[in-house]
Amino acid sequence: MDESFLKASEEIGRNFNLIQGAGGNTSFKNDDSMFIKASGYKLKDSLQKDIFVKVNLKKLRESIKQNLKNPLEDTWDKSLGKRPSMETNMHAILPNKYIFHTHCLNTISLLVQNQCQFKISKIFNDLKYKIIQYKTPGIPLANEIKKVLKEDKPEIIFLSNHGLVVCADDIDTALNLTYLVSKKLDFPIRESKKENLKKLNKIASGTCFRPTRYNNAHELAFSEHTIKIASSGSLYPDHVVFLGRRTFVINTKNELEEIIKNSTIEQKLPLVIVPHAGILVPENISYEAEELVLALSKIVAKIPNNSKINYLSLNDELQLEKSNSENYRLSLNSRI
Ligand SMILES: [Zn+2]
Repeated sequence: MDESFLKASEEIGRNFNLIQGAGGNTSFKNDDSMFIKASGYKLKDSLQKDIFVKVNLKKLRESIKQNLKNPLEDTWDKSLGKRPSMETNMHAILPNKYIFHTHCLNTISLLVQNQCQFKISKIFNDLKYKIIQYKTPGIPLANEIKKVLKEDKPEIIFLSNHGLVVCADDIDTALNLTYLVSKKLDFPIRESKKENLKKLNKIASGTCFRPTRYNNAHELAFSEHTIKIASSGSLYPDHVVFLGRRTFVINTKNELEEIIKNSTIEQKLPLVIVPHAGILVPENISYEAEELVLALSKIVAKIPNNSKINYLSLNDELQLEKSNSENYRLSLNSRI
């Protein structure tokens, strides 16, 4: 395994603005093989753990070409107990040696705005980029990217309501382009306010909720604008997968109790915003999902007041839930 590739993967994995939880993935191609991050593993562990899977690139590309239902089938060694990322198809069809896919918060913040195309054209007019309309990660997204590859070879791909893909033939270029895009889109965030932990604790006491441990995430609750954006729909895949389809806005303990009473056992308890106080999360929220609470707060904080937002459709949300549960089932299988 290429040491400098692992180092670069670890570096972006440690940057919260680029990668949260097990999101994002990097890959490199070597003749007929491709090494890609395994599903469910974290890029920041690139140097300490063996988190990459070797995929038979030739076979995978052939299967994608033939439009097979599951092109990934029999393209990697299952006995090693790891599955290639669900975004492997996208990496495989891109021609460059190195592909870095990040969930850059600065970039996502722009890619959920209705005006993003216009803004990108002004900021990145000297770079070869493409904007891809939102598609469910996996085969639908790869098929959408395939369409633009017919025209020319982009170095930057903006995935609407999702994230950033950078394509390069050497590691330094891949890293530099990732940082360049992120930096150019690093718009100032709105003024921060102090959370009201006393009020949050009062509402949550005796329930299965608590204030989020990320103090900066509470800022989301201090502007009508950010509350509206965060509670009006789902913005990107990890928003749905980790925080659920609905975010509630409440002001009293009664309202919180009502939410708990009405949620079924199978349902994940939702994120709850208490205006001018902060954010409540279910006590049993996973460490990874709570990182996404902070990510959401940072993303909405960068969206200008007058922006129109493109939300995922109900069908998009259902597709994500479906592929997430399928992914979970496969991950259990691969451990056997
Ligand atoms: Zn992604």
